[in-house]
Amino acid sequence: MNGPLSTHASSIKQTKLLVVGSGGIGCELLKNLVLSGFTNIETIDLDTIDVSNLNRQFLFQKKHVGMSKALVAKEACEALVSDCNITAHHGSVFENRFNKTYFAQFELVLNALDNLAARRHVNRLCIASNTTLIESGTAGYLGQVHPIVRGEVECYDCQPKPTRKTYPACTIRNTPTEPVHCIVWAKYLYNQLFGEEDADQDVSPENQEDEDKENRAETDEKVKISTRQWVEENNYDPKLVFEKLFKSDVEYLLSMENLWKNRRKPQVLEQVEKDSSTLGLREVPSLGKLIHIFEDSVQKIKKQKESSEQALVWDKDDAEALAFVVACANLRAMVFNIPLKSTWDVKSIAGNIIPAIASTNAMVAGLIVLKAINILLRKSKAYRETNVTNVGPRRVIPNIPDKPNKNCYVCRDKKEITFEVDFSNLSIKDFKELLIQKELAFQQPDAQIGSVILIDAEDDELDEKFLAKKLKEFDCIHHGCIVQINDFSQDIELHMTLLEKPDTAEYEDLFKKVTADETESPTKVDSQITSVQSSPTKKIVHQTESLFLAKSSDVEEEPASKRPKLD
Ligand SMILES: [Zn+2]
Repeated sequence: MNGPLSTHASSIKQTKLLVVGSGGIGCELLKNLVLSGFTNIETIDLDTIDVSNLNRQFLFQKKHVGMSKALVAKEACEALVSDCNITAHHGSVFENRFNKTYFAQFELVLNALDNLAARRHVNRLCIASNTTLIESGTAGYLGQVHPIVRGEVECYDCQPKPTRKTYPACTIRNTPTEPVHCIVWAKYLYNQLFGEEDADQDVSPENQEDEDKENRAETDEKVKISTRQWVEENNYDPKLVFEKLFKSDVEYLLSMENLWKNRRKPQVLEQVEKDSSTLGLREVPSLGKLIHIFEDSVQKIKKQKESSEQALVWDKDDAEALAFVVACANLRAMVFNIPLKSTWDVKSIAGNIIPAIASTNAMVAGLIVLKAINILLRKSKAYRETNVTNVGPRRVIPNIPDKPNKNCYVCRDKKEITFEVDFSNLSIKDFKELLIQKELAFQQPDAQIGSVILIDAEDDELDEKFLAKKLKEFDCIHHGCIVQINDFSQDIELHMTLLEKPDTAEYEDLFKKVTADETESPTKVDSQITSVQSSPTKKIVHQTESLFLAKSSDVEEEPASKRPKLD
């Protein structure tokens, strides 16, 4: 090896690395590593190669479709550099064989993952085995690489993760202001008309005015029957459905004068002559075309519904379902003077698609290797994280990463957390699945209070009756009690203080993480939890990070331009 790395060649050659993920970033990363002189590498990936991967995962060819990503990536790298030694595992990083002992054999772990759960799991194994982790992600033109070093740099769980992006019901039903609000409304409408009815997805106007109730009663009655019922009673007549959605419902909204004091009023749509010519994929539709698409899709989906035994489920790849949403979202956008969107745009926004971009993956993979070399050779504790952006003159921006959060329940020695919990309504099953597994990302938890076992990871025979029990039915569960939670697969033990959710609580969820400034600790409860503050200097990082930390399904309704697609 020549060049600036030549003096370090033997050190690089000997270093044992683990690359978790052999896909978008993984392919680039493995190729860069072997070409930089790393020869001792293991890689894990559960996936097989799909034809859609071939435009950016350059180690794979058409003949590899259906084969293991990890195994094909290994072969392709070995073809590039003959003396490298790659061990490829076609499997899930959650498997018990990839435990703390397995992770401890590597000098560095490099993440090239595409989902939150796996990132959180690998983070924990690296913390437990005291192995330095380089975490990475891309979302369209945005990318990020950051080191995670126990005790030195914040871990993946140090900062709270963004939760599912939702929009207030009143914005969707009454006062949309952005195209995405209309698209969400149109998807809800699809479910209301053809799918599983969901009360949380009601699309009809909501009365937001208390005054003048008596005069309104009659009108209210008209809209109170569900949209589904109304449409069924009218046999899905497209003309009548159009009149209801884009005329009478709008008139009803206009009757709530307070809503429009500081907003532009919506306008009722009048039927115009249909235009049945083809709508181009990227064409912004006219009213005539929208009316044609609307009527056509309503009739076709009605037939689908009649011939299907199950409720229909909206799917962006179903041409009729997409046409219906394109039509309804744009018609609603016209009502509210919101810019119209082409089929292409609607599909991206509704389907949460952010294109994975080969060049961003390549930049991030290059930065991972630079960071790995920096950490290995310089033995420096001056850690840096790096963001790739598409704004401004500087596309690659280094930052000083935060120190570990002193209250992190993953990377600090004292692992404690406090939750306010609805004892009357939270079952043991939900306590396990929603709180411990989903919220806290434990994989195989055991939970007990004193000697009472609440959840046993080894217990395969699920006792439904026991699981359905609410927390209040257990004598050992009371305000201030401490649950000991273990997960051997992640080598983590956590003490969770449970506080009873007060009747006066203003949130609807069954549980909520408690921070010290939100509540007074009860007697005998030594709650050390404080809220996480971000320093103003790190604004850019956190904006980008927040995009990166959510997985696709967590941000169902976020516009494509903002939604993360980690690859
Ligand atoms: Zn942490």
